[in-house]
Amino acid sequence: MSDSQTDSNDVREIRINPIVPSESVLVATARGMRPKKAEELAPRDTRKHVETCPFCRGNEHKTPPVILSWPADGDWQIRMVENLYPVLGDDREQAGFNFGLQQTIDGYGRHEVIIDHHEHGIAVHEMAESHLAALFGVYQMRMRQLFESDERLKYVLVFKNFGPAAGASIPHTHSQVIAMPVVPENVDAEVKNSAAHYAKHHHCIFCALIDEALTFEATIYDRNSGAVRRKINVGQYVVERGEKFIAIKPFASRYEWEVHILPLAHQADFLDVRAEDLADLARVMKRTMARLDAVIGGAQYNFFLHSVPHDSQQQAHAPSYHWHLEICPRTSIPTGFELGSGLFVNTINPEQAAERLRAVEL
Ligand SMILES: [Zn+2]
Ligand SMILES: [Zn+2]
Ligand SMILES: [Zn+2]
Repeated sequence: MSDSQTDSNDVREIRINPIVPSESVLVATARGMRPKKAEELAPRDTRKHVETCPFCRGNEHKTPPVILSWPADGDWQIRMVENLYPVLGDDREQAGFNFGLQQTIDGYGRHEVIIDHHEHGIAVHEMAESHLAALFGVYQMRMRQLFESDERLKYVLVFKNFGPAAGASIPHTHSQVIAMPVVPENVDAEVKNSAAHYAKHHHCIFCALIDEALTFEATIYDRNSGAVRRKINVGQYVVERGEKFIAIKPFASRYEWEVHILPLAHQADFLDVRAEDLADLARVMKRTMARLDAVIGGAQYNFFLHSVPHDSQQQAHAPSYHWHLEICPRTSIPTGFELGSGLFVNTINPEQAAERLRAVEL
């Protein structure tokens, strides 16, 4: 990370996540304030084909049973299999056993793996746009099938760990799908807080944030001296813009290079993205990942798809929740301070991070 920023740009403030106010971030950019160590990134595997890899073509017999493969005929491009080591059991008929304060819910669910591409070490920004659009289509198809297969499933989490720094245990590029009978806590907090915002202000808070990212302009003065503390410029949080989707740098980013992708028009459920719009989503994704890769120098990251839960409140939350993809590149090791306080520390001013991502020539 560059130390070239001048002292006048140094920021030290706690920023409250507008959607989940209980989650806050200490943005501390002054050199002396940096408590973090840059993560020693183990290099990721960039080979195209690995003879011994169970996810490479030719080794199909080494994977658990296949769920779907695309295209249906000829050499597969995307392949979905069951997880060898599922975190949630398949059809465990076991009643939740509750005793006093010890509440449990049956660990019923599904855990599956999507082999994103036949090329072993390919990064998302190296995939063709048409391939990425097909991959998003596979996410949708499987989410829909899982929700339809069992009404106990309330949430289907699609996520990707890319690179050893992001916890990917198998180097072949892949995503994971976990279907569960409960709503993950962080999604639940977003859903409840955005519903409360809607009840009070009658608009979606995510839509408001997109509007602010696109048009907000302000000068903030120091109350005592009258000096200009900060100027906020038009579009300073925008990283990439498509026709239907936008990539923005959250004002209270937990991770230095965190970027979120959202549909520009209000939409609660990822399953409602029309097939013809997946190409624009793929384009925004590819360009965003290329920017991150260029700035970080080989991005290793997690991404998570957050969409409205399919629970009894799904219809009620449709106007207030807005689906999005959270991309969280891993560049530093969490400190004891972060783990102990629950306060994330971000050592790069999000406005400057967005500027550097935008400046990448693609
Ligand atoms: Zn492989
Ligand atoms: Zn919205
Ligand atoms: Zn989210």
